[in-house]
Amino acid sequence: MLTGPYSMTRLVWFEHDLRIEDNLALYEASRAGEPILCVYCQDPTIFAPHNFGFRHTGVHRRRFIDESLVDLDVRLARRGQALWVAEGRAIDVLPKLIRELNIQHIYKSWHPGVYEQKVWRQLQVLAPGAQWHLCEGNTLFSRELIESQCHDFANSSFSRFRKKVSGLSPSKTAPSLMRLPPPPTNHQLARPAPLPSASTARFSGGENAALTHLVKYFASDLPNTYLDTRNALMGEGTSSTYSPWLANGCLSVRAVAEALQRFESEHGKTLSTGWLYQELLWREFFYWYSALYKNKLFKFEGKSTHRPKTSHYNKRLKAWCEGTTPWPLVNACMRELNATGFLSNRGRQIVASCLVNELAHDWRYGAAYFEQQLVDYDMGANWGNWQYIAGVGADSRGGRHFNLAKQKQQFDADNQYTNTWLKNQDAPACSGLDYVDAADWPL
Ligand code: FAD
Repeated sequence: MLTGPYSMTRLVWFEHDLRIEDNLALYEASRAGEPILCVYCQDPTIFAPHNFGFRHTGVHRRRFIDESLVDLDVRLARRGQALWVAEGRAIDVLPKLIRELNIQHIYKSWHPGVYEQKVWRQLQVLAPGAQWHLCEGNTLFSRELIESQCHDFANSSFSRFRKKVSGLSPSKTAPSLMRLPPPPTNHQLARPAPLPSASTARFSGGENAALTHLVKYFASDLPNTYLDTRNALMGEGTSSTYSPWLANGCLSVRAVAEALQRFESEHGKTLSTGWLYQELLWREFFYWYSALYKNKLFKFEGKSTHRPKTSHYNKRLKAWCEGTTPWPLVNACMRELNATGFLSNRGRQIVASCLVNELAHDWRYGAAYFEQQLVDYDMGANWGNWQYIAGVGADSRGGRHFNLAKQKQQFDADNQYTNTWLKNQDAPACSGLDYVDAADWPL
């Protein structure tokens, strides 16, 4: 075991918080002035298939995370630090590292995931001598405030939650860190690998891109038109598109709320800016909802007492995933999702409703497919919204069924969106729901 000058090293474990600004884990660790080891665990299992046959992380989010790691390393380097990548699951690599470097303090941002919390508890058992600090920085409000003010929120609907929190002020962001204590030198970890080429994707990973987008968005008039455009299926600036950076922790939700407040104090509060804040509250709601319901987030019956009357149909699911259902609008949405890793909120609602209602399919496969495909996958927002549409979650109305013809008429009457993604050429591969029977014979 190494001792001596490194005995006071503190470890900051980055996971869903790939940023420096308003990162409470990093902020708290740096306050002691002792060396800090900033570590990201490259867990190979997140790229492996899970029980619904899809991967936890697909190509779009993987690229986004890789870019975010390189960016984080660069930003840390400017402050006298570095990011180190440990290859393997945290449970396998961290205890060894903690022992070898005699680390006494470990800092991490709190996350509501059951898996994340289980690993956190297991690690404490494996390295009992160390002190483990969980820092809450990924929500607008602290857990203490939510528990004291809204103890019954998750049993109720979003609107009740919104009413409860509407009088509360979001927590303030942490002071900026201009300089950080140095890293230790006695370890074998590597820095994030440079990326082969610049990406042409719609969203670039990393805090730098996130902050540039934040400044640009609030320097424009877009917050004032948000309410009129947020339901659009396509178009730059129709919604804020903060989600890729928020979901991967490149951007702090508190920083977004503060920027919005500044915008309102300079330009006045409007229905539109209020609505944008309300969307941040939806994110907040699903964060605390997932913390409360834990494993129920992934259960077929969700938090309800009934099991939906849907099942698993291989061919239907395949057609839905590939965008070859009988509904061009649904197909266009799925092709956008597959090509870019992003889909508007309207598009997500349409395809989720189609899977659950028209295709009578088990909603969890849709949620798992979204988890794989989305660049902005966020556990609470994704599984919570799916439950909501499937009628087993926070919606007291018992699910949502969107009329596909009406949605087409309302949001794509001129076929601009479907033409963009179906290129005017693709007739649906099947003309009905099932083009083969249970034994795979054509119908
Ligand atoms: P804006 O409309 O500009 O909203 C600003 C921010 O508010 C978003 O970035 C997001 O953080 C939050 N937000 C907005 N709407 C919601 C919502 N309904 N639920 C929770 N937070 C919201 N959002 C994710 O971030 N990750 C997901 O994995 C995800 N999966 C979804 C699955 C389904 C089936 C549905 C219907 C919605 C899902 N959403 C998810 C919510 C929403 O569609 C996206 O947050 C939004 O489209 C992202 O675009 P934006 O940043 O421009 O949003």
